Amino acid sequence: MEKKQFQAESKRLLEMMINSIYTNREVFLRELISNASDAIDKIYYKALTDDSLSFDRDSYYIKVTPDKENRTLTIKDTGIGMTQEELENNLGVIAKSGSLAFKTENELKDGFDIIGQFGVGFYAAFMVADLVTVKSKALGSDTACQWVSEGADGYTIAPCEKGGTGTEIILQIKENTEDENYDEYLEEYRLKQIIKKYSDFIRYPIKMDVSSSKLKEGSENEFEEVQEEQIINSMVPLWKKNKSELTDEDYEKFYTEKHYGFDTPLKHTHISVDGTIRYNAILYIPEKIPFDYYSKEYEKGLELYSNGVLIMSRCSDLLPDYFSFVKGMVDSEDLSLNISREMLQHDRQLKLIAKNINKKIKSELQSLLKNEREKYEEFYQSFGRQLKFGVYSDFGANKEVLQDLLMFYSSKEKKMVTLDEYVSRMPEEQKYIYYAAGESNERIDKLPQTELVAEKGYEILYFTDEIDEFAIKMLMTYKEKEFRSVASGDLGIEPDAADEQSEIEEKENKELFDFMKDVLKDKVKDVRISKRLKTYPVCLTADGEITIEMEKVLNAMPDNQNIKADKVLEINAHHEVFQSLKNAFENDKDKLTLYVNLLYNQALLIEGLPIQDPVEFTNDICKVMV
Ligand code: ADP
Ligand code: MG
Repeated sequence: MEKKQFQAESKRLLEMMINSIYTNREVFLRELISNASDAIDKIYYKALTDDSLSFDRDSYYIKVTPDKENRTLTIKDTGIGMTQEELENNLGVIAKSGSLAFKTENELKDGFDIIGQFGVGFYAAFMVADLVTVKSKALGSDTACQWVSEGADGYTIAPCEKGGTGTEIILQIKENTEDENYDEYLEEYRLKQIIKKYSDFIRYPIKMDVSSSKLKEGSENEFEEVQEEQIINSMVPLWKKNKSELTDEDYEKFYTEKHYGFDTPLKHTHISVDGTIRYNAILYIPEKIPFDYYSKEYEKGLELYSNGVLIMSRCSDLLPDYFSFVKGMVDSEDLSLNISREMLQHDRQLKLIAKNINKKIKSELQSLLKNEREKYEEFYQSFGRQLKFGVYSDFGANKEVLQDLLMFYSSKEKKMVTLDEYVSRMPEEQKYIYYAAGESNERIDKLPQTELVAEKGYEILYFTDEIDEFAIKMLMTYKEKEFRSVASGDLGIEPDAADEQSEIEEKENKELFDFMKDVLKDKVKDVRISKRLKTYPVCLTADGEITIEMEKVLNAMPDNQNIKADKVLEINAHHEVFQSLKNAFENDKDKLTLYVNLLYNQALLIEGLPIQDPVEFTNDICKVMV
């Protein structure tokens, strides 16, 4: 039998193909099954247009059969088959797609999901096989033909025996090498896995004989290996089903099956768009945070399908970072794929889809917030930090999108509130949105700096996440209201009689204050009479942009630049301690120095800042005692 050569270009292309087009060997099966599915689609189409043909669904299927003994893997279909001429044209010329031609000839457009278009997928078989035999009998033909090839060398075509219309592809699986294990392509579980992964939504049944151990009939403890034919794929993609027929359970089952997470998602949304770009998507908002979510290892992304065939397991371009927690999939027939069908040729369509999806996620979160508050708070508990990072990053470019989704704990409501809720109940005379930063709600509750604002009856938002203050600095305002830390120099609260009294005190005791400043030197920028303290003797506040909380966060970063807040030690003139200070100033300067150091260290402790010299501090306390 004469061996025919592949055309020159084809030969080179084939080598390239086998070695470098695909990143992942396992996709050979995706390609062969897609071809089989196309072949059945073609019969289906013919039956639609030709009355002499009938299409009985039950007789159309794909069957995958591994044979370990002979090291073969057979993929059989009951599709349209190929004549000798077609074998020659479609498999002898690389980059010639009989399927694309079929589509064009028959002017197939919408709703017809033929997958093939590049005319290279078939050759992926040579990634795992060193000999490929294709036996085929075309629709309406009495004779069958076989095409045999060992790869780049060429191929032979000859008549053969084959019952029934359709195609059988027999792969002689390569021997294992030191680096590559080919045996796995003969293992049932592995084949099942690959079929599930890429071809789960092929519309025809993909069958396989699956072995299992069963109790022997009539016996109570004797088992036997039995083979049972099973359908491996789910066939109808969930996203192509009618939304009204689907239940929450269906979506939750899909979430688990697809391994999107181990939790039960808080919300799912099913989108079908039929506009300039057509796509279906199912998106989930998870309930629980993946263990690696806030680490570098976490990869965001949605599954991307083209006509029900998996193209990418994690398409990251479909999600912005701030919504990186969203799970799910997108299926579109309008994507232009590159030749390996593992990447996209143009990302214009993808950008459009991503933009729509982004909007959809935002509105889903908003509706969760509005209608299912508890669920939203649960979500926020897990992923709120990501939203705040989103406000902060890219120089605040996305703050408009995200600001309405933020929540903080409120001093007044004793629960999480939104900025909108805060602003809508602000009293008329209140100028700013007040916040206090600290380690925990309990600690902030006790912060001396909150006293004045709390006494005024104003609500205070508690910032307990490191990112909070940075995010808010980026936001700057919400509904034209500025944010203000309760520890900032100017609280925007009108002075009252007590304040006037304080000012007089400060003037009268100028020398005392100068002395205190001298003791603390560059540890603080200033020592002042406090306008915000009511019951506590002292506190630290900051002038300028950097607050004490921010100083803590910045200094905990790896590139610590030793940034310092401009600290101010505030003294409560109405506290008895102030009297002691005045007395010491008159009578005992050493004592005053001791007191000032003690007060300063106390203020540091309240702030959760480290004391420079704890031993000296404890010695100082002892000195007061004796
Ligand atoms: P594509 O699927 O992109 O067209 P392939 O290299 O996968 O390219 O296949 C080349 C052509 O071979 C197909 O277009 C089709 O005409 C034909 N073909 C491949 N497999 C089969 C099959 N199982 N049944 C019928 N025709 C097939
Ligand atoms: Mg193909």
